[in-house]
Amino acid sequence: MTTYISRLFVLFSLVIFSAQSLSAEVNVYSARKEALIKPILDDFTEATGIKVNLVTGGADALISRMQSEGQFSPADVLITTDVGRLVRAKQVGVTQVNADETIFSNVPAYLRDEDAHWTALTLRARPIMYAKDRVKPEALSTMQALTDEEWKNRICIRSSNNIYNQSMVSGMIQNQGEVKTLEWAKGLVANFARTPKGGDRDQIKAVVAGECDIAIANTYYLAGMLNADDEATRKVAEQVAVFWPDQESIGAHVNISGVSVAKHAKNVDAAKALIRFMLTDEAQAWYAETNHEYPVKVGTKWSETLKAMGTFKAQDVSLTKVGETNAKALMLMDSAGWR
Ligand code: FE
Repeated sequence: MTTYISRLFVLFSLVIFSAQSLSAEVNVYSARKEALIKPILDDFTEATGIKVNLVTGGADALISRMQSEGQFSPADVLITTDVGRLVRAKQVGVTQVNADETIFSNVPAYLRDEDAHWTALTLRARPIMYAKDRVKPEALSTMQALTDEEWKNRICIRSSNNIYNQSMVSGMIQNQGEVKTLEWAKGLVANFARTPKGGDRDQIKAVVAGECDIAIANTYYLAGMLNADDEATRKVAEQVAVFWPDQESIGAHVNISGVSVAKHAKNVDAAKALIRFMLTDEAQAWYAETNHEYPVKVGTKWSETLKAMGTFKAQDVSLTKVGETNAKALMLMDSAGWR
């Protein structure tokens, strides 16, 4: 009798479980372009049966949308790049705590929110890039040294509106305080080869065009150019090399792409399951290969292109703090005359 009941129970649970997984879905708001995220979401659906509805858009637009949708927001998960935006999402109240053991054991503490609202999915580095034919790597050392007279009119970097630069400067504020960072920013601006314009790829191209000798850019841009379909772009990228600054001291500035469970998520379990999936070996390896970003999970292989750029010591300052001084960084850059 007992066996009969337990068999019936197993059968019953199977029916319930399959019914649940058939209807289960998760709504993802993503600031990452569809091509850079969709394949991994499809893998998740295949592995779990949970359907993923993807909405893509600009990070700030998605965060505003979640704010205005309020408790009626269909968003379960927010995926975005740059810690500045993850911290902003938390500050405006569109995220919630996700205290998940998988996150704690796979993601180093400095790469996730101190209150567990967001976690990094990938790491991105922003080192110095230089013209191979005009700059000897021995001439380079620290970010501080870029303010030296010898680099006058030789540096290209995008504008202070850009959140990657805001986070980089914010990291410096965390490391050395506002006074020293302001001095540094003034010195850097004094060495700009031109008024900032364009994105990271444009800075790399400007180096090759001879407009400047040094650029500061994220490595995945250079990696993308090195793997471009057209030969002309590959040729441009091959003329530039990466230099890792501050390796004897604080390390190179890093940023992240990351993810949060939305404050008003209706599918919380599915949202958490998706985030755990994004931290599996398989998903981490996919990011590394497709996006040329650094996996956050220790032991995951980097793409061959990133490997060729070399290993480095990363600044391990808490990215929660870096995100929190974003506004200060922007004001400081403005005072330094960084357009
Ligand atoms: Fe980018």
